[in-house]
Amino acid sequence: NKKHKTDLEIAQSAKLRHIREVAGSVGISEDQLEMYGNYKAKLPLHLIDEAKVAKSHLVLVTAMTPTPAGEGKTTTSIGLTEGLNKIGKQTTVVLREPSLGPVFGMKGGAAGGGYSQVVPMEDINLHFTGDFAAIEKANNLLAALIDNNIQNPKNNLGIDPRTVEWKRVMDMNDRALRNIVTGLGGKPGGMMRETGFNITAASEIMAILCLAKDIEDLKEKIGNIYVGDTYDGKAVFARDLNAQGAMAVLLKDAIKPNLVQTLEGNPAIIHGGPFANIAQGTNSVIATKMGMSLTEYVVTEAGFGADLGAEKFLNIKCGYSGLSPKAVVLVATIRALKYHGGQPLQELTIPDTVSLAKGLANLEKHIENIRIYGLPAVVSINKFVSDTNEEVAIIEKRCKELGVSVAICEGWEFGGEGTTKLASQVVEAVEGFDGKYKPVYDWNWSVKEKIEAVARKIYGARDVEFLPKAKQNLRKIERIGLNDKPICIAKTQNSFSDDPKWLGKPENFTLTVREIEIASGAGFSIPVTGNMLRMPGLPALPAAEGMDIDNAGRITGLS
Ligand code: ADP
Ligand code: MG
Repeated sequence: NKKHKTDLEIAQSAKLRHIREVAGSVGISEDQLEMYGNYKAKLPLHLIDEAKVAKSHLVLVTAMTPTPAGEGKTTTSIGLTEGLNKIGKQTTVVLREPSLGPVFGMKGGAAGGGYSQVVPMEDINLHFTGDFAAIEKANNLLAALIDNNIQNPKNNLGIDPRTVEWKRVMDMNDRALRNIVTGLGGKPGGMMRETGFNITAASEIMAILCLAKDIEDLKEKIGNIYVGDTYDGKAVFARDLNAQGAMAVLLKDAIKPNLVQTLEGNPAIIHGGPFANIAQGTNSVIATKMGMSLTEYVVTEAGFGADLGAEKFLNIKCGYSGLSPKAVVLVATIRALKYHGGQPLQELTIPDTVSLAKGLANLEKHIENIRIYGLPAVVSINKFVSDTNEEVAIIEKRCKELGVSVAICEGWEFGGEGTTKLASQVVEAVEGFDGKYKPVYDWNWSVKEKIEAVARKIYGARDVEFLPKAKQNLRKIERIGLNDKPICIAKTQNSFSDDPKWLGKPENFTLTVREIEIASGAGFSIPVTGNMLRMPGLPALPAAEGMDIDNAGRITGLS
């Protein structure tokens, strides 16, 4: 009857190893650990060993275009890690830290599911080791320094308050803070201006922390943050406010990756959690390199479907860090395939081979894209209890025709026992590949050319239209010196196109770029193709209403 247990019940009944034992299993002694209780520890950056990084095998888990429910990338990443360890390949899973907003809202936590979870899941899904709080404080220190500079006649940079784009952040879904006016109360209360809050995961500090190599690099990136313009039109950066030193001080612990464990006691590193639309959507470079310094294999995840997550992982994260995956696991579900073939959302558990066959077009385009990068793909069918053998057989047959390896992943139901076949296929793919990924664009191309390359090659667009604001932004990007940096396209995750309702494999469409934002600290520009929300709201019935804790500290209702 284990199927009736919730994720939280499974996690709570697990027998955890002391974190010193988990660390010991990958050669880290206790005196190198900075322990946060018995089951969490921070790892010092000196444990990163570039020679070991170069030898370790990185496996990227990504997915076909998802349904609104999510197709199980995190669950698959953790399950695959258990399976790889089971077949004798020492493996660490490296993941993003969940944001509190979605935990209390609709999506729930992000520590895997069923028998493929990282633990202690309550901690990972809540405050964990305080990294998000530190990022929030660093972000808000810069906001305070900006307003203070505007207020004081001494030391004044002449910042035009109407041009300040830097917002405060908080790790909560709270739409009432999206647009606010600050500086009320007359002269002593500061200069009145319109501003707002973003959720912490959307902070540029999060994106920066996740791309930084070390503290010096972190400071340099923070210094490069674009703040706004002076009255005479000169760009102002965080370094002009001498903000980078103090902000880096606040991040001294947050920069260190966090070691936890999987349900089967294998090492897991959870660090950083940038958005996957306006940022790169993947854990820190430091965490990935740490994992690769510890074990022969590292499994990691990139947010959203492969058109967004894998593209940014390769062109931004790998571009900056020199990393390259040796295999790409493409998560597919029968429910998502049926959804892309036209079956309504409420009916996805009903068997339907016709919609399924039609929906394969979406998966096929993602397979084609992985091949554009020159990487070997392994399709992983994330098995749900409602799936039929007939449906599974249709996917397997199509994958064989396409010459792509495919395996059923039953990690959710059985943990590592359910993923050994997938693990063997991944090992085969890794061992058969000796190259590096091919980027879809050259950083030296113009921003316009870079956007067109991703739109045409990866999304399958015919054209790209730049609205007047976007054209204006292109000039600003040039002025600020972001031309030769990668791009981070913000687009809906629900479609290859910029229309979330266009399922399957859209063709002959025009991608519309409304505006292009600047993230000069993180080191990319953000072409925006839809309405991007950086401060989500809670749903009518938030998950928070179902949560509780008793005198014994036992939590219920967290998912
Ligand atoms: P993603 O990382 O792609 O967003 P997750 O791994 O977080 O997806 O999974 C999304 C949700 O689906 C989670 O609540 C997870 O527990 C659930 N889930 C994943 N795989 C399965 C499965 N095979 N059967 C049932 N539920 C699953
Ligand atoms: Mg996930």
